[in-house]
Amino acid sequence: HVALESLVKRFGPVNAVDRVTLEVGAGEFLALLGPSGSGKTTILMAIAGFEYPDEGRILIGGEDVTWAPPNRRNLGMVFQRYTLFPHMTVLENIAFPLKMRGVGRAEREQRARAALDTVRLGGMGERRPAQLSGGQQQRVAIARAIIYQPRVLLMDEPLSALDKNLREEMQLEIKHLQQRIGITVVFVTHDQTEALTMADRVAVLDRGCLQQVGAPRDLYEAPETVFVAGFIGETN
Ligand code: ATP
Repeated sequence: HVALESLVKRFGPVNAVDRVTLEVGAGEFLALLGPSGSGKTTILMAIAGFEYPDEGRILIGGEDVTWAPPNRRNLGMVFQRYTLFPHMTVLENIAFPLKMRGVGRAEREQRARAALDTVRLGGMGERRPAQLSGGQQQRVAIARAIIYQPRVLLMDEPLSALDKNLREEMQLEIKHLQQRIGITVVFVTHDQTEALTMADRVAVLDRGCLQQVGAPRDLYEAPETVFVAGFIGETN
């Protein structure tokens, strides 16, 4: 469970995030949707602990983590670029967070293989990232992000580097994985269709302000602001 309370983040004169209050339920898939510059990534970075807010609070599982360093938040992260280590095998990449935490070799290997199976890449553990497709590399990044069973998985445009067909396939796959393991997800995207197909609820942002939070159908059928009506209406 994640709660943002009246979150404000300024960069000079710009209110990148402007009093955003939002809750993400345990096991929920929430999409942060908005055009470029609407504050999506800044919110995600504040949840992750890479940016500190100017005002407001962030709670994870009821605990105030507003000022906690990233490694104390128990989160998994997946970015647009896969950020895998090119010189390591797939299994070594996935096991890396465990190695950092001092988990022994045998347990690392066993858990990394299980995570690889979870993202349907069993048998590819000995390859290097360059020997995988973009979608496969992104699945490895997901396996690495969930290996130590984080409370929340944060994803920042994880599919936007992929071509359309693969993107649609991966949307379904991530959604199924999320339901299977029951993890809470906050997913940043500027793509209306992606947000509406994947998320339980969508939070629509415009210039740092939260416009509306609701189930995909509510946004479509009952937009509360002119911005939401226009932005969601662009979906084809
Ligand atoms: P995009 O989809 O283009 O990534 P976004 O919705 O994620 O956009 P943010 O990256 O959160 O938007 O940016 C919100 C606003 O804050 C923008 O006006 C941006 O220029 C500004 N901003 C973000 N990071 C910084 C920074 N480190 N320094 C100065 N301004 C920043």
